[in-house]
Amino acid sequence: MSMVNQLSTSKRSAILRDMMERQGINALARTKDGNTGQSGRPSQVTVLKLLADAGDTAIDFLDQKMRDLPVRYVEADEMFAFVGIRGLTLLKNQMRAPKGQGVFWIWMAIDPVSKVIVAWHVGGRGNADAKTFIADLKARCAGRIQLTTDSHRAYFEAVGSEFGDDIDYATVKKQDDNEQQLVVEEYTGVKMPYRPKKRAKREMHPPVVRSGTPDENRITTNHIESFFQKLRQNLGRFARKSALHSKTLINLKRALALYIYHYNFQRIHTTIKTTPAMKAGIDDDIWTWDNFMDLVDERAEAQRAARREGAMQMERQAEDENVIRLKGPRDEQPGEYTVMVSLHQKYAKIHRTSCAHLRDTPGRQSKRGDSHKFQCETFDAAQNLAYDFMPDDVDVCKICLGEYNRLDTGRGKGGSDLKH
Ligand SMILES: [Zn+2]
Repeated sequence: MSMVNQLSTSKRSAILRDMMERQGINALARTKDGNTGQSGRPSQVTVLKLLADAGDTAIDFLDQKMRDLPVRYVEADEMFAFVGIRGLTLLKNQMRAPKGQGVFWIWMAIDPVSKVIVAWHVGGRGNADAKTFIADLKARCAGRIQLTTDSHRAYFEAVGSEFGDDIDYATVKKQDDNEQQLVVEEYTGVKMPYRPKKRAKREMHPPVVRSGTPDENRITTNHIESFFQKLRQNLGRFARKSALHSKTLINLKRALALYIYHYNFQRIHTTIKTTPAMKAGIDDDIWTWDNFMDLVDERAEAQRAARREGAMQMERQAEDENVIRLKGPRDEQPGEYTVMVSLHQKYAKIHRTSCAHLRDTPGRQSKRGDSHKFQCETFDAAQNLAYDFMPDDVDVCKICLGEYNRLDTGRGKGGSDLKH
């Protein structure tokens, strides 16, 4: 019997309520209404165990519930999150991020009508993760959708290969690149050149229709961006206040799953006056943390039964090991591929490290200080890294990596990469 099981349902509900709606774990361990044991309060271990059990339950719950969704309009976007160690620490100590830590990207899709979060994924920012995310999105939608994303290139190929022509798809240009700037500064320790914030000029960057006939009035990513703003505030609050700041990727996924579960199924949305799940017609009642605790208990019971039968369950932690992470930014170990990033000209280009053309380009020591080289072991890692810096402008050297262009994987420069 773990300590968690000694807590009553109402106490565990209170802890989750505080976790998702108010405060972080350190603060929770100090509260009196969640108390237990001699010290009169649940230990951080207890709270983390509850987060693990409840988070895993939420991951499964969302996976099962969010199917055959009758949504028509979808907005998708991605935001970054630091897990565990921060990039600047890596830089200072010249070290490589441990597995399951580093910069990750949270991909999410929202239906702006019902406000329901349709699909989510956590990983890198490259083509492989875009494909996983878009394939998952497609699997969850019942009919033809209209999708809007930003102009991050990885979407184009993923949407083309997963949906084909069976989608109305448009992209918009992001108005500001604060996020990208933060990631770049985190990696390089170099302040990006100051650029006065331009007023949003839609006419300068008109939306691009890439497939079908999307309704112009629905071509926007405003809803997912404002969802991300709130999510960022909450993740920031978790980070400041508590150990819920995800020390591992799986804890980030668990916290996100709980957040999305609560948002989709429990919280009354102020605009639609009901829960997004009810508005979308997925569910006909409002969930409570007490209801949810029953699911957590059922899941725990099923796991105990499986263990009694000797069938060892795959632990979720194992997933962390499978995530390919970028190397630390200044990890000087040789890699076959080199990403050349120009902060000034705002593009990233992938070369073979042996490429003669690469040797001619100014390196980190250049006077301008705006050009950086990073070596990676695999092409995928190089691509992830390049997208981290310059989501809109990643190029592949045609001289040394011509074969990657010939694969026609949508990495070429300019034009629409979506195949019709
Ligand atoms: Zn090259």
